Amino acid sequence: MRTVFKFYRSTTLLLIFMFLMSCDKESIESETNYSKENTTIKKDAESEKAGLTKDKLHKVMTKEAADALSTIIVVGYAKDVLSSTGKNAIFQYESPKDFAVHQKVQKKLKKYVTVDINQSIPKTTFPLIVAKNNRISNTEIAMLTGSTETKLAKQLDLRLKKMNLGPLYGAYIGGYSDASKIELVGASDLELYTPRYRGADDENVKNAYNSAKEYSNKVIDLLTEYQSSISGGISIGGVKISVKDINPKVTSNFSTGKMFKSFHGMIVAMSKYASSIDKNSFLFEIACSSNTTKISSCFPCATFMASQKNSATSVHLGRGDNWNIPSSCSPSMLSAWQSNIIKWYEIGLKSLNKNSDWNAFISNYSGENRGNKLIPQMFLEALTFEDSFTKRIINTLPDA
Ligand SMILES: [Zn+2]
Repeated sequence: MRTVFKFYRSTTLLLIFMFLMSCDKESIESETNYSKENTTIKKDAESEKAGLTKDKLHKVMTKEAADALSTIIVVGYAKDVLSSTGKNAIFQYESPKDFAVHQKVQKKLKKYVTVDINQSIPKTTFPLIVAKNNRISNTEIAMLTGSTETKLAKQLDLRLKKMNLGPLYGAYIGGYSDASKIELVGASDLELYTPRYRGADDENVKNAYNSAKEYSNKVIDLLTEYQSSISGGISIGGVKISVKDINPKVTSNFSTGKMFKSFHGMIVAMSKYASSIDKNSFLFEIACSSNTTKISSCFPCATFMASQKNSATSVHLGRGDNWNIPSSCSPSMLSAWQSNIIKWYEIGLKSLNKNSDWNAFISNYSGENRGNKLIPQMFLEALTFEDSFTKRIINTLPDA
């Protein structure tokens, strides 16, 4: 009888306690002195509470939280560049009309970190982005080293004009180069997936996916046509040119609730040539079509390249919408990127810890986000809210 009384008394106490502390899971967990029955009740009550938490609290990433996370990572990245190289991170814009918005970003960032902004080399001079290495430490050396690739880029543009496919946006083609050969590795590839941290946005994602699919498939057409025109290989100045493993055309149709991953040419090339790259070779990306004008890496590509110790010759703060990492990427490359994203998040968060949009979102994951291990995936999903990094930063940071 006494035991039964104790059971009811502690159950009642537990329920009152949970009512008062309905959001404080840790306080409940610290109450360990229960009978076996009480443990079961506690577990039931907890799963009920988990359901409540899921329904009542916003576990869904908003655009504001996505912008804040992207900004935190930019700040962390720039601070890390500064502390590890002693030089400001450089972000390049394409034309003088982009100067004002970059100056605004630079001013807003100044409270947290100083960055340099300047205009990138025009595409007509150098249509490539190069992954820097010990030999190619800056754009000037990349221009000298990549003269054959520059000729190749012009050939591809001519071929594209002949094919009359219309303007292509974001048509970057990755490739590998050494003293004797250049291999092109295909267009950006796409893959649909179900997000974990953000809600569906079917109408917008469907439109974005369909246009990305159209442009990717046109680049695949171009490469297929180019490959047959050179019938397996030609040579430019003694360097053999070939197209390797063109990815199959994107055929999947968008389906409800999905997001999509976009694998940029440089990341596909890095994943493919991870084991064969050495001091005599380098990876590059060609900006193809007159409408693909930026000769700088998107910020997400820049984070991946820096993580493999092959920083981009130039980095922009434009779009990196739906950027993601292909499954062909080696676990060691993936984990190098993840550790850096976590590191840059932690550095950036110290500066921006009062961002209410981000804090409201991430506080819902305080139990699961041990060691900030959820941050890399959250960052990838933040990139599905399409916007330039300049806008993401301007939206997030208070006026200077
Ligand atoms: Zn990119």
